[in-house]
Amino acid sequence: ATPTAIMVASGKGAENGILIKTGEALEIANKIQAVVFDKTGTITEGKPKLSDVYALGEDEDTVLSLAASVERMSEHPIAKAIVKGAEDRGLTFKDAQEFYSIPGHGVKALVEGKEVIIGNKKFLEENNIDISEGLLKFEEYTSQGKTPMFVAKGKKLIGVIAVIDLPKKTSKEAVEKLKNLGIEVIMITGDNKRTALKIAKEVGIEKVIAEVLPKDKAKEIEKLQRDKKIVAMVGDGINDAPALAKADVGIAIGSGTDIAIESADIVLMKDDPLDVVKAIRLSKATIKNIK
Ligand code: ADP
Ligand code: MG
Repeated sequence: ATPTAIMVASGKGAENGILIKTGEALEIANKIQAVVFDKTGTITEGKPKLSDVYALGEDEDTVLSLAASVERMSEHPIAKAIVKGAEDRGLTFKDAQEFYSIPGHGVKALVEGKEVIIGNKKFLEENNIDISEGLLKFEEYTSQGKTPMFVAKGKKLIGVIAVIDLPKKTSKEAVEKLKNLGIEVIMITGDNKRTALKIAKEVGIEKVIAEVLPKDKAKEIEKLQRDKKIVAMVGDGINDAPALAKADVGIAIGSGTDIAIESADIVLMKDDPLDVVKAIRLSKATIKNIK
């Protein structure tokens, strides 16, 4: 494209809250064959809320209060939902020491001398905790599109708590429009497979890459590129930054983390998945005019 055409397109994008950082991004966006969306904060609102507390042995308030006492030290949106849920129930917090967090797995800390662990299946198993008593509840929550976490105290499972994060209102329409442009749509997430499949189904996405560790998201993009695909990645989180950089076109959600915004070629100021479609259309229109 000529410098003038690129300037005009950039201006048009900016008017719509779509910041295109380079002319190259604009040209490649025209050829995108697959768009990979991060789930949390991109397809969904990214503001999970506490939805369920299931207690085993202890009472519900004890389970929630213990979990929140540990999650108070975490910055993860799931952690914030758990803390807010405990506050809303008027629960008090206990002191937590030796806080420890494993990205994509969970957190643990010492509370009243006992180790309290909150996280996914893998994290609990790695800590040698028998989760069999909570499995049925866990699966019930995932089938509802909720994200459940096991809670253990002193190596014993004491409950399952779940948060729910709803899809953005325009996610479904954006997916449909991309498909109509002949683009394959994929969702990637660190969340568990069943939850991811449920959310994906709600917005019309068939292909899901779930239970991906933060450090492995870029590798998944690379795999898709090997299938001779021009791949765009849309994300918001710290853990999306390497994947945004790896993709042929990285698209960051404007309310996302600074590092995601820095790693991207295009930034969407309005947090609206429909703007992914707009950006691609703008690119197509620009390239067409030049020919
Ligand atoms: P996403 O790709 O949806 O942003 P993450 O990779 O950050 O997800 O996390 C993946 C999974 O790891 C979560 O669904 C949850 O089960 C677990 N997890 C991550 N952080 C925490 C936390 N602070 N407390 C409990 N579980 C956590
Ligand atoms: Mg995210």
